[in-house]
Amino acid sequence: MNTALVVVDVQNDFCSGGPLAVPDAEGVVPVVNALMERFRHVILTQDWHPPGHVSFASSHSGRRVHARLPTPFGEQILWPDHCVADTTGAALHAGIRVPSAAAVLRKGVHHGADAYSAFFENDGLTPVGLDAMLRVRSVRAIVLAGLATDYCVLHTALDARRLGYEVTVIEAGCRGIDLDGSLAEARKRMALAGVQRDWPAEEDVARRLG
Ligand SMILES: [Zn+2]
Repeated sequence: MNTALVVVDVQNDFCSGGPLAVPDAEGVVPVVNALMERFRHVILTQDWHPPGHVSFASSHSGRRVHARLPTPFGEQILWPDHCVADTTGAALHAGIRVPSAAAVLRKGVHHGADAYSAFFENDGLTPVGLDAMLRVRSVRAIVLAGLATDYCVLHTALDARRLGYEVTVIEAGCRGIDLDGSLAEARKRMALAGVQRDWPAEEDVARRLG
């Protein structure tokens, strides 16, 4: 079976010094680099928002960061401004060695819609594009690493299961935000959905996935 590695949002704004820094985000870089050498199909995602995006607290007067905004398809958590298209903050971390054959998929590109998942926007309906990219490669299983475990990795994993893909999350290659217990909740939801978890350290990646 063809398997693809999907590397989620390893971008400057989610790393140290960024407005939405995930604790120890840089820890994923060596693991992701080792993983990317082992897969023929590598897809990297980037959170990629227009200025004034609906997910930014600054776009809603009187709302603060981490407030929850009701929407027709559930609550939108409001974040600091992050990953604005074509800014340094939206660039992939400089330590990521992107294979020349890798594909890049940008998500959250529409002003009024957020997209944690690389499969669907947060309405659960509007395609982002990962399913089509996997289908043309005849891929039915994905391995996930990146940021953040409890948001974009989680929702990409859940949507993949919903679409019938086999999914493995490489814990050593992920880090979480852990807002109000979201990391434990994410692990519970992934387990219930049949997402496999694996923990190879960098030096074990080659041996166990090669
Ligand atoms: Zn975002």
